[in-house]
Amino acid sequence: MAYHETDGFDRGQGTNGAAAGAPPRHVGIAIVGSGFAGLGTGILLKREGIHDFAIFERAGDVGGTWRDNSYPGCACDVESHLYSFSFAPNPTWSRSYSPQAEIFAYLRRCADDYGLRPHLRFHHELTGAAWDDERRLWVLETSAGRYTADVLVGGMGAFSEPAIPAVPGLGSFEGKVFHSARWDHGHDLRGREVAVIGTGASAIQFVPEIQREVKKLALFQRTPAWVVPRYEHAIGPAVQSAYRLAPSLQKLSRAIIYLRRELFVVAFRHPTLMRLVERLALRYLKTCISDPELRAKLTPSFRMGCKRILISNEYLPALAKENVEVVTDPIREVRARSIVTDDGREHPVDTIICGTGFRVTEMPFADRIRGRGGRTLAEMWRGSPAAHWGTTVSGFPNLFLLLGPSTGLGHTSVVFMIESQLELVLGAIRHMRRHGFATVEPRPEEQARFVAEVDGQMGGTVWTAGGCASWYIDPTGRNSTLWPGFTFSFRRRCRFRAAEYLLERRADQDRAQARDAVQASAVATPGG
Ligand SMILES: Cc1cc2nc3c(=O)[nH]c(=O)nc-3n(C[C@H](O)[C@H](O)[C@H](O)COP(=O)(O)OP(=O)(O)OC[C@H]3O[C@@H](n4cnc5c(N)ncnc54)[C@H](O)[C@@H]3O)c2cc1C
Repeated sequence: MAYHETDGFDRGQGTNGAAAGAPPRHVGIAIVGSGFAGLGTGILLKREGIHDFAIFERAGDVGGTWRDNSYPGCACDVESHLYSFSFAPNPTWSRSYSPQAEIFAYLRRCADDYGLRPHLRFHHELTGAAWDDERRLWVLETSAGRYTADVLVGGMGAFSEPAIPAVPGLGSFEGKVFHSARWDHGHDLRGREVAVIGTGASAIQFVPEIQREVKKLALFQRTPAWVVPRYEHAIGPAVQSAYRLAPSLQKLSRAIIYLRRELFVVAFRHPTLMRLVERLALRYLKTCISDPELRAKLTPSFRMGCKRILISNEYLPALAKENVEVVTDPIREVRARSIVTDDGREHPVDTIICGTGFRVTEMPFADRIRGRGGRTLAEMWRGSPAAHWGTTVSGFPNLFLLLGPSTGLGHTSVVFMIESQLELVLGAIRHMRRHGFATVEPRPEEQARFVAEVDGQMGGTVWTAGGCASWYIDPTGRNSTLWPGFTFSFRRRCRFRAAEYLLERRADQDRAQARDAVQASAVATPGG
């Protein structure tokens, strides 16, 4: 069945449409975002025989993270055999850790191969979504007009809003400033004096690439990260052919990578085990950096795993080069052509690159989604996001968040988590459609039980006992970002179980049932 949007709807116009001056367009399922989450949802819905959905994307192409992050050296840090859809293996990955361009191409290919193009609505930014309790649907405001939808699936991404550091004077800098997720490819870095702010997962990928080009690189580091070597290799044509001819071989590679990565969970939960890996990392640091003063600057003071472990073969050697300076004094201010640190030193620069990550725990979409009673997710969460299985939220019927609270990972592929959540989402939609329910929403006590369980499991883990301040921790001090256990236990338990949800029938069904009841009573009491 081809996708179609119905013009308006015959359930009454209400405020919807009237204000916009045009009838709203209705879709059964509105998906927001076209990264791994949004595309995965579309693919699995189609597989299920469900075609009345649209994917709203604010940009002009699919790909999410892998469309936006095109900085030099950008690549995944989980092996591609695992960092891809289980149902869409790609035998032609050229390297164990694929570069950005290949992952972007893979996602575009998925959109084509699975027939998602007719469902995609580019340049449609969701600016607001409000639950209409009377009509039991979502009213969506987008940059390209108003829509309504029975179900809303949020795949807006945890890493889609770049965080710009709040440094005094940054706005008045006269040189070039950009964030790594919005790389300015038109700005030639050759021969320039460049400042990089931040030493996270993106910075360690692009610093070695630009170090070779720039005249001087000042790397402003707040906290040194644990860096371990990356055991990577090219995947040659012979192996690619073998994967094509015998897909089970690739499945086996995926399974081995998966199991090896799950071992990290044991160490996350028993942080002292991390000491073993720390020793290896310190030895690696020594082989890369001979200067004891620089080595001291780059030695972390917290337990490995408390912040994301970074993997790179090029980062530490690049920091030892003549044209690089690692600056650990905090930035006091940015001037027209320089950065001044707390020690009073002025560092002349003509380009500032912010490798400062993303607004993860703030979840910017939380201000835009209003549930029952007009409350936004942000108002409800008050800085500490919570959702039943990281997916559904009490008070927000028919809303499914992908990679919502408590679903992030420090050790393996989040695509595994997305696919796990999609089992719950599809289970719920299947149940609603089969049994004629109009709304589904987690029972508050079930959500509270889940949140308490996750919070309980966080105790004693490397994230709470590891001695660092990380972006995993929200302003209230809770780790509302990560799943604290094995991902297979998440997969096994993240299922739709009707008893955990409040379900309401559709209004027409309510009316039909009421009519049936009246007729039944009329038959039972003839002439009464
Ligand atoms: C450089 C980098 C490397 C990474 N490497 C790994 C890795 O190796 N392994 C791993 O597991 N994870 C990695 N991640 C995390 C990565 O973000 C996820 O793996 C994955 O891409 C998330 O997919 P998503 O669909 O949830 O979000 P995204 O890929 O961020 O897609 C979200 C989409 O929603 C759109 N959108 C957002 N808001 C709106 C709106 N209001 N209206 C309409 N559209 C909207 C965005 O434009 C975007 O297209 C990496 C992240 C970065 C930044």
